Amino acid sequence: MRPFIIAGNWKMNTTLSDAVVLARAIRGGLDDMPTDRVRVIVCPPFVSLSSVHEIIRDSGIALGAQNVHERDRGAYTGEISAAMLGSVGCEYVIIGHSERRKYFGETDVQVNAKVKKALENELRPIVCVGESLDERERGITVDVVSRQVRGAFDGVEAHNFQKCIIAYEPVWAIGTGKTATPQQAQEVHKVIRGLVRDAAGNEIAERFVIQYGGSMKPENAGDLLGQPDVDGGLIGGASLNADSFLAIVQAAESTGRNG
Ligand code: PEP
Repeated sequence: MRPFIIAGNWKMNTTLSDAVVLARAIRGGLDDMPTDRVRVIVCPPFVSLSSVHEIIRDSGIALGAQNVHERDRGAYTGEISAAMLGSVGCEYVIIGHSERRKYFGETDVQVNAKVKKALENELRPIVCVGESLDERERGITVDVVSRQVRGAFDGVEAHNFQKCIIAYEPVWAIGTGKTATPQQAQEVHKVIRGLVRDAAGNEIAERFVIQYGGSMKPENAGDLLGQPDVDGGLIGGASLNADSFLAIVQAAESTGRNG
């Protein structure tokens, strides 16, 4: 069945030395914790990718970036290409995080172009989708998430879905301390799996990993990860502390779900 995948999104936190300390602590903790069912990804800021890669080498922890540009190269000052990310050891890249959509105006069209560019460069996209509080209150959560998923994967070939992850991150739950209830998360995750099924077929949909993100912490991780369609977490705040991040990994490892 599906593995759990727990990813830490460090956002614009950690200097190089902070990142090194955090990566060492996570690696040390995981070396002491057998994790048969859980895969772990860390997504530090760009400037720390290379150093963190050295620390996690051969540990089973994968490296991810927090963004990528949709073009191959050129006069795009300040941007980072998919090939550059691959060259420093990235296997994954977060695409379309709600903070990128909100503060940097990223559209579904751009998200789609980034997903395709990542795949072309052998990077695995972690595509973020989720509704705002206003959209949830207006009862259009499923419409919004469906539009975002269809937009992100428009033209992506079925076999390429296997390389992707979707993170359902209700915007109202990110960094706010408010978490979706396990039932609210399950409801949307099930819809997302249905969309993957429509696009890529049942076999791929059953193996497809859908993470939950939005104030996941050790105290609520077990209940969220116990839902049949919740296959891991994209963790912001709680990933900046090795103990709480490792406790979430432990919660995934010991959840009763048969996944
Ligand atoms: C995120 O930004 O992806 C996230 C889920 O953040 P937090 O865990 O802090 O809500």
